[in-house]
Amino acid sequence: MVKFMRVERDIKRAIAPTILSKNLKIKGNITVKELIEETDKELKLEGPNPMPKVTDLRYWDFKLLNRYQPFYMPICDMCCLCTYGKCDLSKGKKGACGIDMKLQQARTVLLACCIGTACHAAHCRHLVDTLIKKLGKDYPIDLGNSIEVEAPIIRTVTGMRVKTLGDLKKVLEYCEEQLTHLLSATHTGQEGDVLDFESKALHAGMLDDVVREVGDIAQIVGYRMPKGDIETPVVDMGINCIDTNKPVILCIGHNVVPSTYIIDYMEEKGLEEEIEVCGICCTALDATRYSSDAKIVGPLSRQLMFIRSGVADVIVVDEQCIRVDILEEAKKTGSVVIATNDKMCLGLEDLSHLSEDEIINRILREGAGLVLDESKVGKVAVELARILFKSRRGMKERCLPGLEGIRALANKCTECGWCNRVCPNSFDVMESIIDAKEGRFEKLADLYKRCYSCGRCESECERDLPLVSMITKVGELYHSLEFRVRAGRGPIQDVEIRKVGAPIVFGEIPGVVAFAGCTNYPNGEEELALMAKELLERKYIVVAAGCASMSIGMWKDKDGKTLYEKYPGEFKAGGLINAGPCLSNCHVSGAAIKIANIFAKLPLEGNFAQVADYILNRVGAVGVAWGAMSQKAAAIATGFNRWGIPIIVGPHGIKYRRLYLSDGEDFEVYDKKLKKVIKIDPTPEHLITAAENFKECLCMIPKLCMRPNDGNKGRSMKVYHYVTLYEKYFDCMPPDLEKFIRTERDIPFMLKDKIMGYLKEKGWEPRKEIPQEPTLLY
Ligand code: SF4
Ligand code: SF4
Ligand code: SF4
Repeated sequence: MVKFMRVERDIKRAIAPTILSKNLKIKGNITVKELIEETDKELKLEGPNPMPKVTDLRYWDFKLLNRYQPFYMPICDMCCLCTYGKCDLSKGKKGACGIDMKLQQARTVLLACCIGTACHAAHCRHLVDTLIKKLGKDYPIDLGNSIEVEAPIIRTVTGMRVKTLGDLKKVLEYCEEQLTHLLSATHTGQEGDVLDFESKALHAGMLDDVVREVGDIAQIVGYRMPKGDIETPVVDMGINCIDTNKPVILCIGHNVVPSTYIIDYMEEKGLEEEIEVCGICCTALDATRYSSDAKIVGPLSRQLMFIRSGVADVIVVDEQCIRVDILEEAKKTGSVVIATNDKMCLGLEDLSHLSEDEIINRILREGAGLVLDESKVGKVAVELARILFKSRRGMKERCLPGLEGIRALANKCTECGWCNRVCPNSFDVMESIIDAKEGRFEKLADLYKRCYSCGRCESECERDLPLVSMITKVGELYHSLEFRVRAGRGPIQDVEIRKVGAPIVFGEIPGVVAFAGCTNYPNGEEELALMAKELLERKYIVVAAGCASMSIGMWKDKDGKTLYEKYPGEFKAGGLINAGPCLSNCHVSGAAIKIANIFAKLPLEGNFAQVADYILNRVGAVGVAWGAMSQKAAAIATGFNRWGIPIIVGPHGIKYRRLYLSDGEDFEVYDKKLKKVIKIDPTPEHLITAAENFKECLCMIPKLCMRPNDGNKGRSMKVYHYVTLYEKYFDCMPPDLEKFIRTERDIPFMLKDKIMGYLKEKGWEPRKEIPQEPTLLY
């Protein structure tokens, strides 16, 4: 079998996908396709690149990078990676290994993407291994009758159609092997070319997409989470939704496994009404997909605030984006910490070998413990919460200072201004504190809404003022902190793709906009919700995942309704979807791939470049990583880019140090119908770019949703949104509009006179040729 697979793979690599799609006869009347189907149900190669190695898709990457060139923004001009250094790379100088600043930036980007991908890969490996142990490797991948293309990313990248949990493990093995090669390229004295570093970063991003699909599918089937359900329930979210009259268990992180044991134990003992189990970050989203008993506190931005509030009796941490000073913080409030994951042991002794009762006693004595045997976490967390609830009675109210206490603390402020200087968002922290000296708390209340509780201000405060605690208390007193979010629904159904495929490809649905995780927002959560609202009103399809999906639920209209209560959870024009946690971002690229497959009948298996080429030229999708913070976000964004999906990052996103920008001049494509290379409008204009504020971001979205293949009707709709958004937020016409109007038929009827006047001033001429079947693969 293995030998056959190798031979088949060699054949496949040798011949082009276009030939293969015609079912090339290779033996008598049997086609390659039939032969593979007959002999191996699992591996269904149709394209030239199943399980691509590091350089197999380099040809596609170079096509992208030739058009969208890396633009670097160094943060630091030193390199300290090896003992040759540290090396000064400023002013054109090279390091002792020969690396220059540009290469070093490219290497840093690859390193970030490798870290992010490794993080998701290890998370998903843990999920798959846990579920195989629990359910067996032959446990079927059954996503229900509405989903036939069950894992579009895995199919396209690996050529595999996964049928069981065991198949998912094989996919992970491929990704882990590739990741090792990529990471090794960042070692001193390895890769020496910027574009090759970037090609490797794109490879890492693609692998990240694969492993996230592995992990989300595994948990959807293994933990019976929603399988693309349109009607997933809208659930409670927010600090005020937590019943503080009960013992509270707070789960923080991204890996749902320990939470499932807690929920199972509560159900087994009939304690659902007696205990609150809630979460922060993606673990919370997954816990609500697992059980309606779980509650969501909110996104990452509320982490330190909620810990400081002291509401949680027990804090269970799994992995990723958790404050590494969690032990110190928990100690301040008398909460105990249970670490449950090998990525975050926190220097604690592993108590797994002890009985649950012994673990409970040790944690009561020591305040924290490491329990790597997650099956014990259920009982340990629940029983600890019941004990601590009694012993901490009265303590919760004292964790945060009252208003008089805040005033007294504020009076210690020397007005040195360091809090303002170190705040990543340059908030007026000091001014809020000065007002609080006089008992005026409005500024602190306003700060609460925008602050993401990083704690940098207070770590710099020369009077050691607990600024986050002060902000938290005022916020809790001044705001109603009850919100709603739709539980994560998982993948997009095939039937939804069938309905929207044509309108998206011809541009009649103005675009699919994905808001991806992290809460490093420049100005609070509200901006994200306002962007989503504007787009939903304009009939875009909006998909959110991770912290972004929670943030959208934290804004209410004048009737007190969140966007999730106003817009349907269907993948259609004006639909607002919460796909789920960060892992579920895979369902966005998955939907784009499904459009290529279901609508355009492109074969997926092993056919990455052709599918990505289709998406780049036809599928008007754009990702917005407004609060991109972690290395995982870098990997997710770069993964979207390799599929041909542009990304907009917020102002903090430039700290990733690299954008992919075009020069905005005409692009070249090969037109398969006209059978020649032609010049076309510059769409999509950039692959990854940054916006300074949400208004700029909103105006970029319709532009980056434009595609060469847009029909006139579709393009005129995108132009309409581009112009009207620009006028709404900047009170003028877009300064580059002429580039995106190919002929007069692209001009929306309602804006005809205005746009024609503008075009006349710009000396605009209609294009002689409009692409019929554009491709970069020539
Ligand atoms: S990796 Fe190169 S640039 Fe960096 S410290 Fe070592 S020799 Fe210097
Ligand atoms: S905790 Fe809030 S106010 Fe303080 S530095 Fe961070 S974002 Fe700024
Ligand atoms: S850093 Fe502390 S002392 Fe200085 S202005 Fe801010 S709150 Fe006041």
